[in-house]
Amino acid sequence: MSEKGQLIVVSAPSGCGKGTILAEVLKDDSFYYSVSATTRSPREGEQDGVNYHFLTREKFEELINSGSMLEYAEYCGNYYGTPLTYIDENLNKGKNVILEIEVEGAMNVRKLRPDAVLIFILPPSMKELRRRLEKRGTETSEVVEKRLAQAAREIKCADKYDYIMVNGPLDKAVEDFKTIISAAAMSCENNKYLIDEVLENA
Ligand code: 5GP
Repeated sequence: MSEKGQLIVVSAPSGCGKGTILAEVLKDDSFYYSVSATTRSPREGEQDGVNYHFLTREKFEELINSGSMLEYAEYCGNYYGTPLTYIDENLNKGKNVILEIEVEGAMNVRKLRPDAVLIFILPPSMKELRRRLEKRGTETSEVVEKRLAQAAREIKCADKYDYIMVNGPLDKAVEDFKTIISAAAMSCENNKYLIDEVLENA
């Protein structure tokens, strides 16, 4: 298998619970979480440099213009983007680098890095997604409605991903996530070099 880590793109509608799955997955230090930059305000409990790099629009645009973003998109009125720093460094160290980004950004990464593994996490149902968003209580009801409408648009794009999984019971979801990563690590695309290696050592 390739010694380089895999670039993993994870998308899921806001409130779907992907953070809980990723928190479990990230207990394994073969995974590296790429901290995104955003212009949205921190939610209660969110820390700068841990959850996001919280930036002003001016600073964000400066980073776009200096080519420091792998990708970026506007989502519900704010910029979100992936800083290039540390991505290749960690992939070369053999770490699996996780980008937790929305659909437009994911499609851009697919074009820029065709070897990326794209995973879409679905909520069990739209009803359950609404329940989770309302329970979180971090957004006004207007923002919840905006995010639900956005979620429906995003879910329609899930068929453009390599893998789809459902965020039901946590243990099962974490296991499904890791199974996908293991399968992707053995894909023909990532391992063609093995064929030559075996034949050369005849
Ligand atoms: P939230 O405000 O709920 O933290 O994030 C809103 C959306 O922005 C989520 O779908 C999240 O995955 C996405 N997002 C977070 N970071 C990035 C990023 O670096 N690039 C892109 N394109 N989307 C991101």
